[in-house]
Amino acid sequence: MGNPKAFLTTPRKEAGYRPIHDRIHDFGEVEQTLNSNDRRLQASRCMDCGVPFCHWACPLGNKPPEWNDALYKGDWKLAYKLLNSTNPFPEFTGRICPALCEKACILNLTEHEPTTNREDEAAITEHAFEEDYVDVVTPVRNGKRVAVIGAGPAGLAAANELNHLGYLVTVYDARENAGGLLRYGIPNFKLNKSIIDRRLALLEKEGIVFKYNQPIDLKALPEGYDAYIVATGTPEARDLTVPGRELRGIYLALDMLAQQNRVLAGMEFKKDELVNAKGKDVLVIGGGDTGSDCIGTAHRQGCKSVTQIEIMPKPVEGPVDPQNPWPNWPRTLKTTSSHEEGCTRRWNINTLEFIGKDGKLTGVKVQEIDWKPNPEGGRPLMVEKGKPEIIKADMVLLAMGFLKPSHPQYASNVFVAGDAASGASLVVRAMASGIKTAANVDKFLSK
Ligand SMILES: Cc1cc2nc3c(=O)[nH]c(=O)nc-3n(C[C@H](O)[C@H](O)[C@H](O)COP(=O)(O)OP(=O)(O)OC[C@H]3O[C@@H](n4cnc5c(N)ncnc54)[C@H](O)[C@@H]3O)c2cc1C
Ligand code: SF4
Repeated sequence: MGNPKAFLTTPRKEAGYRPIHDRIHDFGEVEQTLNSNDRRLQASRCMDCGVPFCHWACPLGNKPPEWNDALYKGDWKLAYKLLNSTNPFPEFTGRICPALCEKACILNLTEHEPTTNREDEAAITEHAFEEDYVDVVTPVRNGKRVAVIGAGPAGLAAANELNHLGYLVTVYDARENAGGLLRYGIPNFKLNKSIIDRRLALLEKEGIVFKYNQPIDLKALPEGYDAYIVATGTPEARDLTVPGRELRGIYLALDMLAQQNRVLAGMEFKKDELVNAKGKDVLVIGGGDTGSDCIGTAHRQGCKSVTQIEIMPKPVEGPVDPQNPWPNWPRTLKTTSSHEEGCTRRWNINTLEFIGKDGKLTGVKVQEIDWKPNPEGGRPLMVEKGKPEIIKADMVLLAMGFLKPSHPQYASNVFVAGDAASGASLVVRAMASGIKTAANVDKFLSK
C-alpha cells in the first residue's frame, strides 16, 4: 500500500462536468477528466481496508484497492491488468456505472468522501487504449459453438467470456448494430458510441461473429449450436393507458432516445418520423434515470421547458437514507447533469388524462397525491390531495420503466442472462450476469 494515510490529507476530487453553457449545445460526453497527477492522488486515497466493502458491492467483484494501489504507484499497465481481470469492459462502467462500490466505501461511511473508483476505472482504461496495451486474445478453439441472442452488455460479456474459453461464438441482434441500451438508450452525452465501436472491433478481431438485423424468434432458435444464451433485455416499456393516450405528441422515452442516438450515428428520418423537442414544453413522466436522459436530450434538441413528474414521494435529501444505511446503495435524491441543466421536478403526482386539440397534445391533467400506510399491510394506499391541475405540454415522454419479460420453456442448453433474466437493471449487473451465465454454459458443455 503506497500511502495508507493519504485519505486524511487529500480530499475527494471529481473531474466534474463541462460548463452547462458549453455542453448544452452538443451531444459530446459531459464528464471531464483529471490530469494524471491528480488522478494518482485520488487513487492514493484508497486505504487498503481490512474488509473492503467495495468488492462486495460491485456486482463484478472488482477490486478497487488493488488497481488503485497500482495506479497510485504509476503502474498504469498493472492497474489495467488487475481491473480487466474482473471487468471485461471497464470503459463502459467507468463512464456510466452508478458506482455501487463508492457508496459502500468506508470513506463514505463518516465523511461521505469515498474514493473515485469509477473515474479511476475510466482513466486506467483510456490510458490502456492510448498506450496500446489492451491485448487481443487468440483463443484456442475447442470445436463447440454457442449462439448469443442479444448484443447488449450482458450478451457481449457472455460472448467475450466464452470466446476466450475457446467456443466459437455467434452473436445475433435484432438491430443494425451492437451495444443494446448502451447504443440505443443511453445518450451520447453519457457514453460516446465510438467507445462501443472500439471494443467491438477488438471482439471481432478475437473471433466473435456478429449478425445484425436478425430478430430471433425465441421459440425457434437458430440451428447448429451446442448451447444458447438469451440476452434480449427488456424490450417492452411500461405504458400509461389513461384517456387521451392516442394523442399526437406522446412517446415512449426510448422512441426519442434511440432515435437521437441513431441521428447522431448518421441515420436519416423523415420529418414526420422525428421525435424532437425543439421549441416544445416537454413533460417527462417518470422520475428515474431514463427520465433524466430524456431531460438532457430535450435540452440539446432545443426544448422550451422541461418538467419531470414522479408518482412516488421525493427521496430523502443528503448522502444517507436512514432506512437504507451504509454500505447499501442509498435511495436518496439524485441530481444528474441533466437535472442541473434546468428542469422543474415534482413528486407525488399522478397522471389522470392527456388533453388535446385536433388530435394533438396540449396538456396533461395531473393530481397531487399522498401515500398512506395500508392498514391491511402490503402496498401503501394512494390518496388524492387538492384539486386536479393541468400542466401545459406539447410533448410527453413516458419513462416509467420496463416490463420484466416472460420466456418460453427452453431446452436444457438454453440459458438466460442480463435484464432478460432479472428485469431492468444496470449495465454492471448485466455484464456480471453475462459472465456468470457463460460459466454455466461452459460447465454444461464440459460435462
Ligand atoms: C435510457 C436508459 C439509460 C440507462 N442508463 C444507465 C446508466 O447510466 N447506467 C447503468 O448502469 N445502466 C443504465 N441503464 C440500464 C442498462 O442500460 C441496462 O440494464 C443494460 O443495458 C441491460 O443489458 P442487457 O444486455 O441485459 O440488455 P440490453 O442492453 O437491452 O440489450 C438487449 C439486446 O437484445 C436485442 N434483442 C432483443 N430481442 C431480440 C431478439 N428477439 N432477437 C435478437 N436480438 C434481440 C436488442 O436489440 C438489444 O441489443 C439505462 C437504461 C435506459 C433505458
Ligand atoms: S463497475 Fe461500478 S461498482 Fe464495480 S468497481 Fe466499477 S464503478 Fe464500482
